Amino acid sequence: MKIIFHIILSIIFLQHTVASDIPVYSLGGDLEINITEKSIETDFIITNFEEEKKDSLLFILNDIFEIKSMSINDESVEFDISNENCFDCNYYNVPIKKTNKHDKLRISAIGYFSNEKNKGKVDYKGLISYKEGILRASEQAKWYPVIIEDKRTPSFAVKTMYNYDLNVLCPECKNIFVGDGMPKQKEGTFKSTTPQNSILLIAGNYDFTATDNGIYLNLSDSEVNVLESNIESILDYYGQISGIRITKKIVYAHLPSDNKKWGGFVSFPVIVDVNKKAQIRRLHYISHELAHFYFGDIYIPKSNLFWFYLESFAEYFSYKYLLNNNAASIVRDYERLKKIRMAQRIPFFKSIKGYNFRFVKLKKVEDISDVTGIHRYSIGGFQLLGIDKEIGEEKMKLLIREVFQHLDENEHGYTTLINALKKIGIDESIISMIEKKYFKKLKYREYKFIKEKIKSSNHSAI
Ligand SMILES: [Zn+2]
Repeated sequence: MKIIFHIILSIIFLQHTVASDIPVYSLGGDLEINITEKSIETDFIITNFEEEKKDSLLFILNDIFEIKSMSINDESVEFDISNENCFDCNYYNVPIKKTNKHDKLRISAIGYFSNEKNKGKVDYKGLISYKEGILRASEQAKWYPVIIEDKRTPSFAVKTMYNYDLNVLCPECKNIFVGDGMPKQKEGTFKSTTPQNSILLIAGNYDFTATDNGIYLNLSDSEVNVLESNIESILDYYGQISGIRITKKIVYAHLPSDNKKWGGFVSFPVIVDVNKKAQIRRLHYISHELAHFYFGDIYIPKSNLFWFYLESFAEYFSYKYLLNNNAASIVRDYERLKKIRMAQRIPFFKSIKGYNFRFVKLKKVEDISDVTGIHRYSIGGFQLLGIDKEIGEEKMKLLIREVFQHLDENEHGYTTLINALKKIGIDESIISMIEKKYFKKLKYREYKFIKEKIKSSNHSAI
C-alpha cells in the first residue's frame, strides 16, 4: 500500500497553483503568547502591495484584539473600526489613496483569549479558543489581518493569500504549530514562500508524532496508525478522480471542543478533529474533511451558492470514496434522502424536528444563506452524484475545473454551473434532463442507482 502511495505521489506531482489574478501579500512580524495572562501580543508587518488606486484599505481582525498602533511606512495612520456584519471580528478601514509596491503596513495589537470570553457562544471555526491548555486560532478566526478585496464577500469566507515569515514566542507552551510542517518548542520562526490562504495556529500543552505521510497532534500512537492508513486510502482515491494529488504532509490535530454537534474543520493542510474522542475510524467524517483540501483550498467557492460549492462538493467526493470503499457507511445518508422526500409529501412529518424541510431550488436561490444546512450536507452531494451518473467521471473532472474557474460574485452560481456543463460539451438535452431529475424537485426514485451501487459492492448494506 505504502509503495503504491509513493509511486502515485511521485508520478502525479501536481502542485496546486495560485490563480494569477489573486493578489499575494507578505506577512511578517512577531507574536507573543502568554498562557498565564491569556494574551496574544502581535506586531504584524504587511508588504508586497500592488500599485493600485483605491479610496481605502480594508482588513479584518478577530474582535478579541485591540489595536495599539497602526502605521504605513512608519507614519501612524487613522482608521475606522466597525463590527457591522462581521462575525466575531471587526473591520478596519484605513483611508488611503493609492497603494505602492514598497508600502509597509504595520499593525500592533493585543488580545485576551479565554473560554470565559467565548461564554454563551457556540464554538466554531471563527472563534479563537483556549481549552485544556491549547490555544486554537484558524484563518477564519482572523488571528492575523485578513485583507478585503471584494466587499461583497461575507467576513467568514474572506481569505488572504500570504507568503509569511512569523516569529512566535510562547515560553509556557510545550509546542507551537503555525500553518504547516513540524511544531516547534516554545519559540520558532514559521515560514512559507508559497502563498497560503489558511494559516492555523495551535499553541500549548500537547505532543505530536511525525510519520512519513503526516504530522499528528495530540493523538496516541495507536490512533496515529489507524488514521494514517485511512488517510492514505482516501487521498489515493481523490488523486485518481481529480487528477490532482495532495502532496503536502497532512496534519491531523485532535482538539476537543465544547460544541458537541461539531465534528471538525479543515485549514489546509490541517484537519482539526474537535470531537471529544478522535474519530479515527469514521471514514465519512475523514473523507469529508479531506475533500475540503480540494473544495475550499484548490477550488475556491464563491457566489450565492457558496455553501453548495463548499460543502456539497466535499460531500460528493466523500460519497464517491465511500461507494467504492465502504458503501455501508453511506446507507444512512441515502435513507435520509427518502425521509426528507416523505417529509415534503406528508404534512405529519413536517412536525418532526429536523424534517420541516423545504426543497431548495438552486436556480431560485438569492441569498447565500438560502442553501440550508440539510441541502448543503444531505442533498447537494447526491445531486452531484446524479450529474456524475449522467455525464461520467471524466466529464465530471472537467466540470469541476470549469465551474470553479468561472465562479464569480456577479453571476448566479446556478448559471455558472449550467454554463460550465455547456462549455465542457454536454448536450442541451442531457442538461435539461439533469435539471429535471435532480434540481427541480427532490425525486427519491432518481437516486435508486445509488442503492444498486451499494448492493453490488461487497460492503453489505441495504
Ligand atoms: Zn465541510
